[in-house]
Amino acid sequence: MAAPPWGPPRLDGFILSERLGSGTYATVYKAYAKKDTREVVAIKCVAKKSLNKASVENLLTEIEILKGIRHPHIVQLKDFQWDRDNIYLIMEFCAGGNLSRFIHTRRILPEKVARVFMQQLASALQFLHERNISHLDLKPQNILLSSLEKPHLKLADFGFAQHMSPWDEKHVLRGSPLYMAPEMVCQRQYDARVDLWSVGVILYEALFGQPPFASRSFSELEEKIRSNRVIEDFFAHPWVDLEHMPSGESLARATALVVQAVKKDQEGEAAAALSLYCKALDYFVPALHYEVDTHRKEAIKAKVGQYVSRAEELKAIVSSSNQALLRQGPSAQDLLKEMARDKPRLLAALEVASAAIAKEEKVGGEQDALDLYQHSLGELLLLLAAEPPGRRQELLHTEVQNLMARAEFLKEKIKMRESRWEAESLDKEGLLESLRSSCTLQ
Ligand code: ADP
Ligand code: MG
Repeated sequence: MAAPPWGPPRLDGFILSERLGSGTYATVYKAYAKKDTREVVAIKCVAKKSLNKASVENLLTEIEILKGIRHPHIVQLKDFQWDRDNIYLIMEFCAGGNLSRFIHTRRILPEKVARVFMQQLASALQFLHERNISHLDLKPQNILLSSLEKPHLKLADFGFAQHMSPWDEKHVLRGSPLYMAPEMVCQRQYDARVDLWSVGVILYEALFGQPPFASRSFSELEEKIRSNRVIEDFFAHPWVDLEHMPSGESLARATALVVQAVKKDQEGEAAAALSLYCKALDYFVPALHYEVDTHRKEAIKAKVGQYVSRAEELKAIVSSSNQALLRQGPSAQDLLKEMARDKPRLLAALEVASAAIAKEEKVGGEQDALDLYQHSLGELLLLLAAEPPGRRQELLHTEVQNLMARAEFLKEKIKMRESRWEAESLDKEGLLESLRSSCTLQ
C-alpha cells in the first residue's frame, strides 16, 4: 500500500508509530509487533522509487552485513520485508536516540563517559575489522544508544559498509566530509583505516561538543594518517583499555587473579599478594559495571569488600617492612653520599631520592614522591651503568634496588586507592565503608 503523505507506511504484522529519524536514503519509525509479545522495534523504510542503482546496492550490503553479525554494540537486524512501494529493515529499537543528540543535549560528555563509549565503539570496530568489514560512514548520527538510563552504544547504518581486507584500496567516495579521512577526500583512495579517523573525530566531538573542522590543514592530517602506525595500536591503547572493558569475562579474570593472590598470601609473600589483589580489583570494577542481576552484584561487592580489607592489611605489612628498610637505609645512604662528593651528578640524584623519601611521608605527597623516585632512578641507573666496580658501585646497586622497591610499592598503593575510589563511586551509599565496618563487627 502506498505511504500516505500524512503518516508512516503500513506494514503487515506491525503498527508503525512515531518517526525516529531520517538520513541519507531512509526514514526510520518506531513500531510494535501486532503479535502476542508486542515487541518494540525500529523499522527503516526505504521507498523503492527513490532508489537508484547505487542505493539499491547500499541497501543490499546493509542487509547482507547486518544479517550475518551479532554483537552487543552493533544494532541487530531482526528481519527484512518488502512490498510494492518500500523495503523495510526491522531492527532492534534503540530508545536512547543517536549519539549526535546525546552529545548536543549535554553540550559535552565527561571524559569518563566518552571513554566507556570509546571502549564500546572499539570493541564493535575490532569485531568488524576482524571480519574484514569497514563501516565507512562513522558519525554520531549513525551511532545509537540502547537507552538513556543505562546507555550502551550500538553501531548502525551500514548502508556504506564494505567487505574490505586491510590491504584493499577503494576509490568510491562515501560518508560525510566532516568525519571523512583526508585520503578519502583528497585522493579518493583509502583503506580500512578511514574508520579510525572517523572515531577520532567522534571522540573529539564528544569531548569538545563539535567536530574539529578545518582548524588544521588537510595536508597535516593526511600526513598523520599516512604514517606507518598499524591500526591495532588503537585497540591496544591504554586509554581505551579494552582489556578492562566491562564484559562477561571480567569476573572470571578477577577471580583467577584472586586465586593467585590468596596463594601468594598463604606463602607469606605480602608484596606479591598485594599486587595481585590490586590487579584483580582492576577487573572487579568492570565486572560490577557489567553485572545486572542485583543479587549477584551484591555478592560480588561483598567479595570485593573482603579483598579490599585483606589488601589493606597487606599494605600495612608491606609498609612496615618498608619502614624497617628505611630505618636501616640512611646510614648506607649517608655513606654513599659521602663517597659521591667528587661526583656532583651522583650527589644531585641522591638528593632527589632523599627528597622523594621525605615527600612520601607527608600526607598527600605520594604522587610527587613517585615522580621524584622516577626522576632520581632514571639518573642513578645511568650512573650505575657507568660506575667502575668497587665499594661505591655495590652501595649504589643496593640503593637503586631499594629505591625501585619503594617506587613500585608506592605505585601499587596509588593504584589501589584509585580502584577503591572507582568501586566506591559505583555505589553512593559507601559500599566499601559499610563493608569494612561489618568486617570489624565479626
Ligand atoms: P540513513 O541510512 O538514512 O542515514 P540511519 O540508519 O542512519 O538512516 O537512521 C537515521 C536516524 O534514525 C538515526 O540517526 C537515528 O536517529 C534513527 N534510528 C535509526 N535506527 C534506529 C533504531 N534502531 N532505533 C532508534 N532510532 C533509530
Ligand atoms: Mg545515517
